[in-house]
Amino acid sequence: MQMAFSFGAAEDMAWVRDRLRSGFGPAGPIHVRPPIGQLVKSMISGRTRDEVSLGAYLRLVAAYPDWSGLALAPAADIEAVIGDVTFPDVKAQHLCTALADIASSRPDFDLTFLGSLGVARALAWLERLPGVGRKVSASTLNFSTLHMPAFVVDTHILRILRRFGFVRCKADTRTAYDWTMAAVPGWSAADLAELHVLMKRLGQTICHADCAECRNCPIRQRCRAAAAFRQNEAPVLNGNPANSA
Ligand code: SF4
Repeated sequence: MQMAFSFGAAEDMAWVRDRLRSGFGPAGPIHVRPPIGQLVKSMISGRTRDEVSLGAYLRLVAAYPDWSGLALAPAADIEAVIGDVTFPDVKAQHLCTALADIASSRPDFDLTFLGSLGVARALAWLERLPGVGRKVSASTLNFSTLHMPAFVVDTHILRILRRFGFVRCKADTRTAYDWTMAAVPGWSAADLAELHVLMKRLGQTICHADCAECRNCPIRQRCRAAAAFRQNEAPVLNGNPANSA
């Protein structure tokens, strides 16, 4: 595990949450699905705008009202339904294989048993499925009716964690997940979901991938990239110029 900073990390995360809550207002409620629905939704959502992936998911459940029908559908048919998400061919193939795998051990597609495994084992169970990495597995546990404490690190949040200096600029999603979870012991599923929503909003509105509007950022006071920008060390673009080791 590439842990870069530990001193003050827990305080930093609480401070980030509080500052973002003050700046953006409280995070609204998250639409909660059964675990299998959230898994499918997350599997088609990668690198796709929220409204597009939601539309694709709704078309998918309309076309295949029960999960066994989706598990038996040809990949080309699924691809036609989710055609406007990124990499629809790859995602359709992953869905076919993953749902067939689940059907072999859980023919009712009821994944509530994951709640009894604990977070680490539940993540591992999900991540053996094709197309399921840490973001999809954490989303399945946290945003579903399972309500398990697993932090969802999407591309916006990974970028912010890197720029802020919480993880190294080359840290991957899994490392960022490990760091965040280690920094916030005792945070509930709802706490972690709120942090996700607030940080994602920051990434969508201020800390963009190609330009960071640090002047308007509620967490600029402690952000290492913002400090580097003020000192003209480097432009704040992709990654974190203050944390490139
Ligand atoms: S201060 Fe700038 S680089 Fe840091 S999180 Fe905010 S917008 Fe992003």
